Amino acid sequence: MAYDPNNIFAKILRGEIPAHKLYEDEDTLVFLDIMPRTEGHALVVTKEKACDLFDIEPEALAKLIAVVQKLAPKIKEAVGADGVLIQQFNGEAAGQTVFHLHFHIVPIRRGVPVKPHAGQMEDQAVLAKTAEKIRKVLKG
Ligand code: 5GP
Repeated sequence: MAYDPNNIFAKILRGEIPAHKLYEDEDTLVFLDIMPRTEGHALVVTKEKACDLFDIEPEALAKLIAVVQKLAPKIKEAVGADGVLIQQFNGEAAGQTVFHLHFHIVPIRRGVPVKPHAGQMEDQAVLAKTAEKIRKVLKG
């Protein structure tokens, strides 16, 4: 599959559409999922033009997963979760809906149901509040 430079994450990376950003470095941008499966559901997005896991050099992938490893425990702490689900979909048949490589960080609280993947849009004010809570923990 050819990489589409007009996919929604490419537009967020270029600043053409807004997102509740949590973290950014030279290679990676992290922001809240607009249809969160749980509170704090975040997306760790590479700045490489890669459709999926099989479309990126191992070195660049290593940088991406390192950000997942660094941020997941902090996001978990910020929202008071008990565990973290890391998800990554490759191809439409596997459930991928945005064809720009990313990992999902989904904090899990015991007894709180996980909503369906790419289900319902969250209120912007709720996302803003969650993002603020997470940024505070990330700042340390
Ligand atoms: P995928 O199915 O490709 O693994 O995940 C794409 C994710 O992007 C979904 O969880 C979906 O809710 C999220 N998403 C789709 N459009 C937008 C958007 O415009 N902004 C943000 N922040 N997330 C989006």
